[in-house]
Amino acid sequence: MIMSINGTTRIVGVIGSPVAHTASPAMHNAAYRALSLNYVYVPLLVAPADLRDGVAAIKTLHFAGINVTIPHKESIISLLDEVDPLAVEIGAVNTVVNQGGRLTGYNTDGNGFILALKAEKGVSPKGKRVTVLGAGGSAKAIAFSLAAEAEHIHIANRSTGRAAELAARLNRVRAGVAAAGPMEGEAFFSVLHQSDIVINTTPLGMAPDTSQCPLNQFDWVRPGQLVCDIIYKPAQTIFMAEAAARGAAVMGGAGMLAGQGILGFELFTGRNVPYDVMRKEI
Ligand code: NAP
Repeated sequence: MIMSINGTTRIVGVIGSPVAHTASPAMHNAAYRALSLNYVYVPLLVAPADLRDGVAAIKTLHFAGINVTIPHKESIISLLDEVDPLAVEIGAVNTVVNQGGRLTGYNTDGNGFILALKAEKGVSPKGKRVTVLGAGGSAKAIAFSLAAEAEHIHIANRSTGRAAELAARLNRVRAGVAAAGPMEGEAFFSVLHQSDIVINTTPLGMAPDTSQCPLNQFDWVRPGQLVCDIIYKPAQTIFMAEAAARGAAVMGGAGMLAGQGILGFELFTGRNVPYDVMRKEI
């Protein structure tokens, strides 16, 4: 159910291809209802070849802003008037704010993950040793957001060159904060054992292939660790179940999705929304 729309309703949307399965409209419209804001949030199917026209339409139609999803998160950058430094580091934008015809891009994915850590587990990354499995787009977003506060970030990836490149870029932000290595071998499992927080950012275990798992041994898990998956379908992956069975706390990907939405909502409306209002829509 959408609230009543009138002549002063502000419009926000999500640009992507496909967009039919996105949870963002339900999350944002629930937040507008909860705060009685005169906004509406709509899905916007935009093919890659039409992205320039789609971005121009945001200005022409006076949208308050948009979220950006696959496959436009990188390609939209060159079409914006300004890009927040964190989004420049990450190399991807998931949120665009339209202020009087000037479009500014942000990336709220990594800070959304940190917001979820605090909201769902009462955990701050400050002083923590973190291992990130994967070195793709979401790993970059999470790692750059963690870089200011975490004690250390280990990037483990199938393609070790990609992990090394991300660690080197993190070390340019904060010298010595990051290291890189493969997702296998004795040294890797020792790093995992010493980590306070372990985050899977690979798609292994995501529906429909829910039988997959990024690791095939879990001897490294110990109570006191927080093991996270950013996959949100299914709500509990095999990776999370194996870690939970050995006494670790676990967190799935729905929190990150809610967190990035909440931070986007604040950028679009200038208002705060309680975490649970968006979280329960996923
Ligand atoms: P991406 O940029 O394509 O990166 C994928 C990463 O996974 C790469 O590091 C890749 O390693 C690794 N990988 C892929 N297949 C693998 C395999 N068979 N074995 C080992 N490693 C493998 O993807 P992304 O955009 O970061 O998204 C990754 C996952 O995060 C997806 O499941 C997505 O749904 C989820 N996600 C969740 C949220 C949320 O809000 N919860 C937000 C964004 C994404 P190589 O470098 O070796 O190829």
